[in-house]
Amino acid sequence: MYEKEKKELLNICLEMIKHDLVIGSSGNASLRVGDHVVISPSSVHYTEMTIDDVVVIDMDGNEVEGTRNPSIEKPMHLEIYKNRRDVLAIVHTHSLYASAMAILHEPLPPILDELVPKLGAGIRVSKYAMPGTKQLGINVVEVMDERSAALIANHGAVCCAKTLKDALFLSILLERTCKIYMTAKQVGKPIELPEDVVEDEQDIWEMMREF
Ligand SMILES: [Zn+2]
Repeated sequence: MYEKEKKELLNICLEMIKHDLVIGSSGNASLRVGDHVVISPSSVHYTEMTIDDVVVIDMDGNEVEGTRNPSIEKPMHLEIYKNRRDVLAIVHTHSLYASAMAILHEPLPPILDELVPKLGAGIRVSKYAMPGTKQLGINVVEVMDERSAALIANHGAVCCAKTLKDALFLSILLERTCKIYMTAKQVGKPIELPEDVVEDEQDIWEMMREF
């Protein structure tokens, strides 16, 4: 089942490697199809993964199809889908600069015009929880309110969208913006966008979410 979606997921996992957002089998991705979630398997290197390794689960986490174990972060994916009806695809990465921000527990402020309409008015860091726990998912959902992304404390980042392609693009944008922010911080004190601009751009984010 869901052959087209599995192929798409496989392709996005390879793109995650290509863009240096993960290494080996780290990170994970999924997409929601009706009451099912198509999710990357646990511990399979993306460069060796085939569509037969992809797992289908239901919203309670039961395996519907597949021979592999689903990603260890299955509880986070399910927690996001259950709390955000607007989200149909999730990409979770361990990229360098986003992870650096996540270990500093440093949120990414609204510093660039291209950031806010796409990701929301500044990206927050979730409270720490162990990988693979439901609590990690709960903590992520909490800080992702009105946002398309979160930094996961001492771990990495997660981006959500309506398509896998968009979730991957947001992951690249988030990583790039974290890099810009940290580079700027080495030279001086970054200035945030004016408050009224952030409000207007956040309205655009809200509008885009409706589509
Ligand atoms: Zn992870």
